[in-house]
Amino acid sequence: MPRFIGANIYRGSSYGAHHPLRVARVSTVIDLARAMGWFQPGQYVNSPRARPAALQAWHDPAYLAVLQRAEAGEIIAPDLRKTYNIATPSNPIFPEMFRRPATAAGGSILAGQMLRDGGVVHSPGGGTHHGMPDRANGFCYLNDPVLAVLSLRDAGVRRVAYVDIDAHHPDGVEHGLGDDADVLMISVHEERRWPFTGDLQDRGAGQVWNLPVPRGFNDTEMQAVLDSLILPRLAAFRPEAIVLQCGADAVLEDPLSRLTLSNNAHVAVVNAVRALSPRLLVLGGGGYNPWSVGRCWARVWAALNGYEVPDHLPEAAQAVLRGLVWTGHRDGKTPPVHWFTTLADAPRPGPVGEEVRARLSALEARARVWV
Ligand SMILES: [Zn+2]
Repeated sequence: MPRFIGANIYRGSSYGAHHPLRVARVSTVIDLARAMGWFQPGQYVNSPRARPAALQAWHDPAYLAVLQRAEAGEIIAPDLRKTYNIATPSNPIFPEMFRRPATAAGGSILAGQMLRDGGVVHSPGGGTHHGMPDRANGFCYLNDPVLAVLSLRDAGVRRVAYVDIDAHHPDGVEHGLGDDADVLMISVHEERRWPFTGDLQDRGAGQVWNLPVPRGFNDTEMQAVLDSLILPRLAAFRPEAIVLQCGADAVLEDPLSRLTLSNNAHVAVVNAVRALSPRLLVLGGGGYNPWSVGRCWARVWAALNGYEVPDHLPEAAQAVLRGLVWTGHRDGKTPPVHWFTTLADAPRPGPVGEEVRARLSALEARARVWV
């Protein structure tokens, strides 16, 4: 039975009134799952908050101390703000700026322990893939995916595949694990977008596979990526565990990318990778339109459990979606009615573009040499 790791800290905490992470995300998934009757007894697990000692598995103790001091309201000197990249528009000082990421990290560490003997865990509060050992980066103060992999290692799981379908390249994870020969890393991300890392040519220890994709990337192209990159690499690597960063910012309605997937693409990836390992951890990640991120991850949870998603949501689930607010964005003023009444997007197929085709061929050629 898949398990879901959630926490109340995501409900009501915000990075600030003008930050993309001002919107409700994990709480929407929890409320939708409850409204749909998708939590069986024992499936919902409350996330512990990781202690600094546990975070030190990857993070610098001095940096962790500064995060806690900033959360406690201490004024952090300008040189320390600069060193640790906090008190910036992206990585603001906010009331839960240590507790919230430490809860996401605690969930990922717990997930590694829960997966010791196999299974499936969904932790949508996780997926903070830009975090660096000693500084904040790209809305991420910590890096829970790296901590998840280290926790799996502690549980005796050696070969881990990390697959990332967020619109942004996971620079923090590649920094932490790219040179680990027992980690396979696959990332599909928008080209020429922050953090501007994730080149097609990156190899790390030989197990890093980056696919930058152009704007307009569609469902058909994601299926091609699944069939000719993700699934063959996973099959060849034979991972003991898969960590899937399932960021929802590559969907059409997201304000931070120019990719045009439907949430069917995310569900297709989840369903396809599941068979390739006895352990699967699905994390969240980006996603800044409250309707598209909540609907996407609720569908992921349904898929992991084998639940049919109805074409028209029952009233209780619609009420969750009608209750969302998105200030400061035009789509928040007049959301289309299907954002309230459905979870599944209409498919967004299209041609497989020349760039995607050529880059997939280059990676396939590299795989033939490598094998
Ligand atoms: Zn992202």
